[in-house]
Amino acid sequence: MKSSKWILPLALLAAAIGVAVWSLPGRERVLADLAAVREAVTRPVPKIALIGLDGADWNVMRPLMAEGRLPVLSSLVESGASGDLRSLRPMLSPALWTTVVTGVGAESHGVRDFVFKQPGSYAQPIVNSSVRKRLALWNILSELDITVGVVDWYATWPAEEVNGFLVSDRIKSIGAETEGVTYPAYESLEEVLSPAKLPRTPPAPALSRLTERFDTLPPGLNKALKEDLYRYSVARSLYQAYHPDFFAFYFKGIDAVGHFYWKYFEPTAEVYGEVSEDLIALLGSVIPDYYELCDQLLGDFLKELDEDTTVLIISDHGFQAFGRPDNLIFDLDRLLSVMGLLEFEDPALAGQRSERKIRMASTRAYTHKGTQIVATFGERDRALYLNVAGRDPDGVIDEHGWRQTREEIKDRLAALRTDLGSRVFSQIRINEQPPGESAQQEPDLVVRLNREIAFDYELLVEGRPYSLYDVFLWEYGDISGTHRDEGILVARGPAIRAGVVVDSPSLLDIAPTILHLAGVPVPRDFEGQVIREMLVERGAGERLVVESYEEMIERSQLAADDRLDEEYRDRLRALGYVE
Ligand SMILES: [Zn+2]
Repeated sequence: MKSSKWILPLALLAAAIGVAVWSLPGRERVLADLAAVREAVTRPVPKIALIGLDGADWNVMRPLMAEGRLPVLSSLVESGASGDLRSLRPMLSPALWTTVVTGVGAESHGVRDFVFKQPGSYAQPIVNSSVRKRLALWNILSELDITVGVVDWYATWPAEEVNGFLVSDRIKSIGAETEGVTYPAYESLEEVLSPAKLPRTPPAPALSRLTERFDTLPPGLNKALKEDLYRYSVARSLYQAYHPDFFAFYFKGIDAVGHFYWKYFEPTAEVYGEVSEDLIALLGSVIPDYYELCDQLLGDFLKELDEDTTVLIISDHGFQAFGRPDNLIFDLDRLLSVMGLLEFEDPALAGQRSERKIRMASTRAYTHKGTQIVATFGERDRALYLNVAGRDPDGVIDEHGWRQTREEIKDRLAALRTDLGSRVFSQIRINEQPPGESAQQEPDLVVRLNREIAFDYELLVEGRPYSLYDVFLWEYGDISGTHRDEGILVARGPAIRAGVVVDSPSLLDIAPTILHLAGVPVPRDFEGQVIREMLVERGAGERLVVESYEEMIERSQLAADDRLDEEYRDRLRALGYVE
């Protein structure tokens, strides 16, 4: 920011809002249509920049701030509001970042994982914007003639039509040949985004320390760093060119280095045992260096903002050490095969997860693999699908009797015990969501493993014992850090109280807060609340609301397909997110 001359604008803004919106004390007025909402929005709309730091955690940040290594974040914390931001389940980034922009949980918006199940197919395409069932902030703001800019948010490909620009999460495929990667089409943005036009990375001392280690970084991490730099230069260039009212982008690398290097950052954590001193010396500084890099890029970006722009910096979850039993993955397909519900093409490969193939024509139930790692054992819901004739390509379960089969399978799963009598599943849920016209097929059953079985020895299937560790459980070895519930929130701007520590709002509260900051009525079908404790005005006047924007606004986008999936899947594979 250029300076801190906020007192006057702040007072003026508070006065303007007070007059325009909060005129009648304590009442709510429901606006029935878009025209009424458009009219109620005070122009010009206060500018908002939402910047994500995927996986950022106060436990890493606070010591670094105390050492003076994160000056930009420190200054934002001092002059703004800050605190924990509670995450949600499933604690996976596509689900969480979609919650941030839709104001609803994954069950409502439909983006639950990196991949999804397509109806009438066994394929698992990368999640895309057609899976999202709810409006995003950019849909709502665009319709209200407020300009928006979004860069590489999860599940945004194909890019939707917006009042401004949207670079989808297939950002790597930016170019003239790839339709739908950006809105507007590449030709309109070429002036800004052509490789010759993009600026070099700004000088960042932490970057040279990280790139010195390029040789020692796994290829996936190397990629994550380069992607952050590319994403940042795209975001900065577009912001410079268009100055949208609402702008959103994020850095992903903190999450990646957290998964791979936590062990060297916090080697004394109980779950690790002995950690090599040499590796600690070599890699122990990667995580702090990455935070420093983000702080330096953040500082570079803030220079672009007008002084009265509200800045929100958030993470979708925090981070913690990861080891047994939480890093154990349970092989559900193997269990289904032992139960006679699933058949592998070659039974000799049953234990080879990456090589074996399922023979669908003789399979009654199977799991949708989804992403297997980074979600702690026992807290991760897994989706089961029945293979139903008439619905699935090689369906074998009778179309009319599948509900009964579903009940039978549920009962058999519920009856499973270990040798010490523990239930294998702590929860088994039949999913009654109607199939509808959705782009995503909902699971038939959702199961949750009982974490306690990690301490048992054998699993009994119809009286026969199977060794848990030899047959069903494997350890995800490369990963030593995982998500935890408390992420970060830092906010600064003319409508934000300085020095406030917020009392653990959740990711659900970000979208309503952004609409409120923009002076836009918050819809009642959002699942969170405006974070009033960090606002200068506490909303004592008449409050304008709408029931829902869903019926008022139509989304416009290209049809999704899997053309660009392979490149994306390679990226996820390199980071260990999919097999
Ligand atoms: Zn992660």
